[in-house]
Amino acid sequence: MKYIIVSGGVISGIGKGVIASSTGLLLRTLGLRVTSIKIDPYLNIDAGTMTPLDHGEVFVLDDGGEVDLDLGNYERFLDIVLTRDNNITTGKIYNSVIQKERRGDYLGKTVQVVPHVTNEIQDWVERVAKIPVDNSGLEPDVCIVELGGTVGDIESAPFIEAMRQFQFRVGHENFCLIHVSLIPVVGSVGEQKTKPTQASVRDLRGLGLSPDIIACRSSKPILEEVSKKISMFCHVSPESVFAVHDCKSVYHVPLLLKDQGILNILTKRLNLEPRHSPQGLS
Ligand code: ADP
Repeated sequence: MKYIIVSGGVISGIGKGVIASSTGLLLRTLGLRVTSIKIDPYLNIDAGTMTPLDHGEVFVLDDGGEVDLDLGNYERFLDIVLTRDNNITTGKIYNSVIQKERRGDYLGKTVQVVPHVTNEIQDWVERVAKIPVDNSGLEPDVCIVELGGTVGDIESAPFIEAMRQFQFRVGHENFCLIHVSLIPVVGSVGEQKTKPTQASVRDLRGLGLSPDIIACRSSKPILEEVSKKISMFCHVSPESVFAVHDCKSVYHVPLLLKDQGILNILTKRLNLEPRHSPQGLS
């Protein structure tokens, strides 16, 4: 199983979900089976008890799970059917850890965020990634894990730490990190600023995760010199910096990523074996 983790920097709501599902769609064009897990670092067990004004409409899955609307994005982009367990929340993780503690599963140990909560997160991801989600009924090849929130938040810290440990559990060749960041445009001359991205990558690296790909969200197409600067200051190769500007339709995002060569980077980085050459996208 190959894992692609998608994290976000600077601010939330910059299009992590769209970039994650677009990446999955591109992998599907190679004949690979793709599943996805969305992590929401809030204490609610699920989105069913939250006002839609905070997080958008609740998406109801076939198994009755009331989940974040991003799961709907994944089902539509990837033509898959997900389960309630494909949406992890802090509430679900703590609930499971506390139930285990009451059953005595921890054998008298002090139950702590590290390792008990972080292990629970990793076990959950590994278990759910294997659930068949398409009509082949077979285990997926790739699992895309979208980490909600922003790197550096208190809420997402246990999940970031779990992913830091996870890269060693599954091995370097099975773990790839896409960091989605914002390039703001400021001033009357419309200068594209890289500093917030540099700071968020520094935060991420400080927490033990190093991005393999940086996806830069901006209102307008990003200038080449700006991409080069990000490569230089954020410790990724120039080919691993992807520019994703605001599009008329989010269904253009897969084409933007494909044209910049994301499939090449991912297949090399993760040693993926495509079942056929890209099909179904032009
Ligand atoms: P996040 O997962 O970071 O919270 P989403 O992927 O849910 O962000 O996107 C937030 C909003 O921005 C959605 O309404 C989505 O349709 C829109 N959006 C994302 N990427 C783009 C893009 N490249 N162009 C235009 N709108 C976008």
